[in-house]
Amino acid sequence: MADIKCVGILTSGGDAPGMNAAIRAVTRSAIYNGFQVKGIYRGYKGLISNEIIEFRTNNVSNIIQQGGTILKTARSQEFMTPEGRQIAHKTMLQEGIDALVVIGGDGSLTGARIFAQEYDIPVVGIPGTIDNDLFGTDTTIGYDTALNTIMQAVDKIRDTATSHERLFFIEVMGRDAGFLALNGAIASGSEAAIIPEIFTEVDQLEELINNGFRKSKNSSIVLVAESELTGGAMGMAERVKKEYPQYDVRVTILGHIQRGGSPSAYDRILASRMGAAAIDALMDDQRNVMIGIQNDQIVYIPFVKAIKNHKPINRDLLNTLRILSI
Ligand code: ATP
Repeated sequence: MADIKCVGILTSGGDAPGMNAAIRAVTRSAIYNGFQVKGIYRGYKGLISNEIIEFRTNNVSNIIQQGGTILKTARSQEFMTPEGRQIAHKTMLQEGIDALVVIGGDGSLTGARIFAQEYDIPVVGIPGTIDNDLFGTDTTIGYDTALNTIMQAVDKIRDTATSHERLFFIEVMGRDAGFLALNGAIASGSEAAIIPEIFTEVDQLEELINNGFRKSKNSSIVLVAESELTGGAMGMAERVKKEYPQYDVRVTILGHIQRGGSPSAYDRILASRMGAAAIDALMDDQRNVMIGIQNDQIVYIPFVKAIKNHKPINRDLLNTLRILSI
């Protein structure tokens, strides 16, 4: 094993429910295995400006149930420059941090990969993002909780949609990925999901109308991924107003309520397993890997694969949604 005495942890990019459970698991598993742990505040920004404190087991007490991240999170332009990363490296040397665990999404792991290569530092990533868009892992921390939040919100909107006989476009997060929209639609019994993955293949709105939606129903709910490609829920509503003016359309943008809240049992367990696995990976001499989960087994995915490859949606789910919305 590389000579690691002290492990630094940070959370970066968008917050996701379950990040705290991951921080707790990394901290406790590291201490259990004889490492010193340092908590780095505000992601890479805090690594540059040295916002770092030693973490003991009680620093992570009573946080497993909290959404957000006690380490705070930030986006750092400076870390995207070689000069910024040089300062970050200096801080690591000053603080005696030998290895890093980075909890975040696509961008955060891209930064981790570049930093690890430039300075030959052992870095392990944990996928923390509600978007579920990282390749090599069946799911990411925060995704299940966000899906449940979406389901509960759509259940409420359905009451109004049904009472007023309206067509609702509900916008959910997922700039480049339709996982939340597609699975959220199935979980909430919505009529359709409009997602970026199949944007260039079919006109999803036209298909929806041509499939005769609403003929046998008095209301319809369609989940739209926030992607620029789809134009989001507002874009869809504009189109309906112009092209199908017979429909009474409404738009709801769920926004940041999707990120918040106490993590689900699934996310807490996933985060706990991944956090402990990150320390196992360091002890196993793994570097530049993301912890993933495949068929309920922990796996190590090289950063390059996790970031560069596009995670495909399961097309069977699209079909299931179509069948169930007749
Ligand atoms: P989410 O998926 O929730 O948006 P994310 O981790 O993808 O999370 P980003 O804003 O893309 O969020 O990235 C977070 C931070 O990671 C950036 O502010 C930057 O500091 C760092 N980062 C991203 N891309 C790079 C890069 N190419 N080089 C160096 N650092 C990067």
